[in-house]
Amino acid sequence: MGKKRSLNDITTIVLHCADTPNGRATSIEDIDRWHGERTPPFKRDLSIDPKHQPHLKHIGYHYVITLDGEIHEGRPLIETGAHVSGHNHDTVGVCLIGRDQFTPKQFHAIQIIKSRIEAQVGIKLPIKGHREFDPNKTCPGFDVQAYVNSGYQPYEHRVLEIKKDSSFNTQQTYVPLKKSENKERPMSVLTTIAGLFKPAADLIDNLHTSTEEEMIQSNNLVALQNELVIAQNQITSQIIQLESDLLKAQSAIIVAEANGQSWMQRNWRPITMLTFLVLVVADTFGLTEFRLSEQAWVLLQIGLGGYVVGRSAEKIMPNVMKAMSK
Ligand SMILES: [Zn+2]
Repeated sequence: MGKKRSLNDITTIVLHCADTPNGRATSIEDIDRWHGERTPPFKRDLSIDPKHQPHLKHIGYHYVITLDGEIHEGRPLIETGAHVSGHNHDTVGVCLIGRDQFTPKQFHAIQIIKSRIEAQVGIKLPIKGHREFDPNKTCPGFDVQAYVNSGYQPYEHRVLEIKKDSSFNTQQTYVPLKKSENKERPMSVLTTIAGLFKPAADLIDNLHTSTEEEMIQSNNLVALQNELVIAQNQITSQIIQLESDLLKAQSAIIVAEANGQSWMQRNWRPITMLTFLVLVVADTFGLTEFRLSEQAWVLLQIGLGGYVVGRSAEKIMPNVMKAMSK
């Protein structure tokens, strides 16, 4: 039976795992039932805080962190738990659903619950794994001190990856990457690059599930966003350099051709250009029986080199295509 205690008695947070199959959804009610089926059963003293989770009559933990990273309350902090033999009086029991692999949101929730408990108790509290109290136990299935020392990064090799075709919890997406919705073609290289960074930004947004979490994340977030902007700028300047080099090479070829020996060598580009121009005009006024395909535009762009080149052309092309297809 739980005993009443003062918040001042609390010195340590003890982390547990539920020892349930990794990734299988389990609720705090499930754990409450299991703790009631033990011999002897765990029992709460509901007279200590009658309004606190009265439907949970057995649970030994103070908090349970489910796969979605949600924090569920079990016993109140002013009631001793039943989770770590010989140390229940001065500890808080936090249980992660799973055995030795947990979702990134669960790892993140550990940091949140730690600061939440500390706010109530009024002092900083060390966090330990159950096995640090009992060498015969593997609970919670990972090295808590290494996790803390890493700055609460999801513990290596202990991050649960949920497959998309998973039969359980199909609504939970632990990797909320969004597919690019940009179907505009031809897409400029710069747009493509910007698109590469968008999923990362979306990912950051999706990480936020509460204001509290947001506050903790905000510092990391700003740093990450700064890094993204720097990376994007670097790649952009590299592309501009690349295009400039390409332009130089193309114009060199055109100059060489213009000074060429044969009439054909000097004039094939202007002739091709004129041919395409005629086609475009005819196409625009609906004089042809076919529509110029986008591929024709790409051919025009590649084949004509110095006449239609560069990023500016790539930007203009979609608008031209749009205007023409009306
Ligand atoms: Zn344990």
